[in-house]
Amino acid sequence: MRFEPVESSAVNERLSNLTRPVLNICTTWLQQLMSRSCVLCDAPTMGTWACKECASELPYLTRARCAVCAVPLASGATCGACLERPPAFDRIVAVLAYDFPVDALIHAFKYGGRLALAPALGEVFAAAGAPAADVLVPMPLAPRRLRERGFNQALELARYLSRRHGMRILVDACRRVLDTPPQAALPWRERARNVRRAFVCDRALNGLRVAVVDDVVTTGATLNEIARTLREAGAVSVVGWVLARTLPR
Ligand SMILES: [Zn+2]
Ligand SMILES: [Zn+2]
Repeated sequence: MRFEPVESSAVNERLSNLTRPVLNICTTWLQQLMSRSCVLCDAPTMGTWACKECASELPYLTRARCAVCAVPLASGATCGACLERPPAFDRIVAVLAYDFPVDALIHAFKYGGRLALAPALGEVFAAAGAPAADVLVPMPLAPRRLRERGFNQALELARYLSRRHGMRILVDACRRVLDTPPQAALPWRERARNVRRAFVCDRALNGLRVAVVDDVVTTGATLNEIARTLREAGAVSVVGWVLARTLPR
């Protein structure tokens, strides 16, 4: 086979037509990648959300915790509270302890309107593996809270988990119908009562294994209530998949 020689000016023209825009895109992308800085200490990074030092110091949860509610437990079996009153969820899968600097990051993300932190938190969350589930249900926010904040942090995180693990998000499966006071403002004892009948499920979930995605779990009262509602809608199992777990003092 023979190729006809091409005029060099024609080659140049083709290069400028095709290659330049592609090269420009690549250069911009590379510059953006190289110019990322650590969200914790501001040091430049090679395209990651945190520098090596900060990433290595994150408070990852150890394996020694309750198999159900994920509170620290030396034996790694089931804690007394979960044995005494088994929750409606099967278990909590949590990645980090809700401790410094995770608490500060999540606080800035949620209340400081720093939606730009979503990729950082989403990356850490998604990189830790996935529980066995068919669908993701982001913990719903009450409509008023959603209007105030402008976004649901659980849905933002669920997008990363969905992308990384190829899991479907059911955005409208569940609604929060009771605008309860923030759980953080209540004593631990009152939290279960506070969220009673807070959720309504609008679709049948027959046979589905559901993972409820949330940023933080504290007592598990809200998760317990949504798990009860999801089971009533037909879910065969409910796992709480959370980025951070508050540790009892
Ligand atoms: Zn750093
Ligand atoms: Zn437990």
